[in-house]
Amino acid sequence: MAVALIVAAGRGERLGADRPKALVPLAGRPLVQWSVDVLAAVSAIERIVVALPIGMAQAPAEIALPEGAVCVEGGAVRSESVRRALEAAGPGDPVLVHDAARPLLTAELVQATLEAVAREGVDAAIAAAPITDTVKRTGIASGESGAREQASGTKWAQGRPLAIVEETLDRSCLWAVQTPQAFRRDALERALDVPDEVLAQATDDAWLIERSGGTVVVVPAPPENLKVTTPLDLALAEMLLAEWPS
Ligand code: C5P
Repeated sequence: MAVALIVAAGRGERLGADRPKALVPLAGRPLVQWSVDVLAAVSAIERIVVALPIGMAQAPAEIALPEGAVCVEGGAVRSESVRRALEAAGPGDPVLVHDAARPLLTAELVQATLEAVAREGVDAAIAAAPITDTVKRTGIASGESGAREQASGTKWAQGRPLAIVEETLDRSCLWAVQTPQAFRRDALERALDVPDEVLAQATDDAWLIERSGGTVVVVPAPPENLKVTTPLDLALAEMLLAEWPS
């Protein structure tokens, strides 16, 4: 039987809410509740662990957890929250990791990732969407846009900083990675057994498997499986959930 870890410890600063993102009201329930309810209905999952925001070791009253669910305080970075949740999970294999920030999770997608990770030779199966935009790589990270121009004093230094394109990638083999992500337990435990500075670099746990030579496969996700980051995402999720089958 599988165990499911829901990471819900993010502060959600880009949402600009007055509370942690997991507790923000969304279509009548706290955001994290949508994922809890989907995972609780999947019979292959025997236990759910929720990594709560730092300073919160117990679920607040507005979250309804199924019997046997466990709560832990999350960590400073996402993979640290995963590590803490896994330590508290008790037995169970495979391990499904899901971001609370993706409330439009479906049971079908959960099943598909669990089926994929059960295949011979697979260490992790991750939900992902094919990239539809053309993707270009610039010489500097998007968060540092303009740093190079300011340093070199080129004509680009005037006005709004501009990042210079260095390469156009072949989008036919590019995927935007999401959750859920399902792991063979031993592979995930080994992958998480790394120094804190490596853990801090991981924006998903599958990367930790990749860097240790494991096999990660992709499971196509439905377009609705969006991540709530900004107020616009929240409004979109609210619209979609208003039509959601109950
Ligand atoms: O920060 P990011 O958008 O990548 O967060 C993805 C998910 O990881 C969210 O559900 C968030 O609550 C969770 N997270 C966490 N612990 C952190 C940071 C993020 O559980 N320290």
